[in-house]
Amino acid sequence: MTRSVPLIYVENITRSYENGAVVALRKVSLKIYAGDCVAILGKSGSGKSSLIQIMGGCDSPTSGTVFWREEPVRNQQEWRELRATEIGIIFQEFLLLSVLTAIENVEMALMGRGLSAKERNLRAAELLGMVGLGKRLHHLPSALSGGERQRVAIARSIANNPALILADEPTGNLDSANAAAIIDLLLEIQKTHGTALVIVTHDESLAARCRRRVRIRDGLIVEDGLVLKERDLVENIVVADDRASSSAPPAVVSAAVGLRVSDPQQCVSDPQQ
Ligand code: ADP
Ligand code: MG
Repeated sequence: MTRSVPLIYVENITRSYENGAVVALRKVSLKIYAGDCVAILGKSGSGKSSLIQIMGGCDSPTSGTVFWREEPVRNQQEWRELRATEIGIIFQEFLLLSVLTAIENVEMALMGRGLSAKERNLRAAELLGMVGLGKRLHHLPSALSGGERQRVAIARSIANNPALILADEPTGNLDSANAAAIIDLLLEIQKTHGTALVIVTHDESLAARCRRRVRIRDGLIVEDGLVLKERDLVENIVVADDRASSSAPPAVVSAAVGLRVSDPQQCVSDPQQ
């Protein structure tokens, strides 16, 4: 049987802090495939953020290796390139630049792509339209609601058509109605673009909307399985078939070339916010 190639594979990752006094991750291994929808569950302090930070190259493991499409990621330059082309990240705190408007925050992610200012502007406006913010282009983050800020962050994260979106408690600062709307949006992007989505949450009902659930406890993966609802069965079979027959990402993702960015600012918090 042909084995498919994971988009990202974290192998035997350990992350400790304070000279080993705190161990956040203990030899964790996880493979994420093109088009996956994975919820990472676990109590506060179980190691979820440590894992997602390492999967996005925002933090380095104490030991272990991260592979992107079977190649080890070796240094920060390679991580920056991946975040500019293949990986979008969304944080609980949004991490928008407070002095830039919504459209300028998204345009930032499109820098260094060989696009003119006009093209960046049009693309950013299109992205903000897609996330329902067509009428909020020129607002500063401080003039937007939490849900709207997270939509800007989502638009920024998908600006370069990533193959993988990492979301660390993206609804943690939102009320339940806004949280549900943000999850709807992320799942819609995952489905329509064939993007793999890894979403950290401690909300079981939100997690239930992802096909695969990974549970972390005390820095260990204690559960990793597909959640099969009746209506998902056919879809799962199709995904399994795709994986077995081809390592290529879905056509939409393969076709999504041409936009590049030098520094999408995704790991950087804004000190003014
Ligand atoms: P979660 O996201 O599941 O709440 P984290 O990955 O943030 O968990 O944290 C896992 C463990 O690592 C916790 O015990 C936390 O206190 C510890 N930890 C995280 N970041 C640091 C840090 N920078 N310095 C020391 N300990 C940390
Ligand atoms: Mg966390």
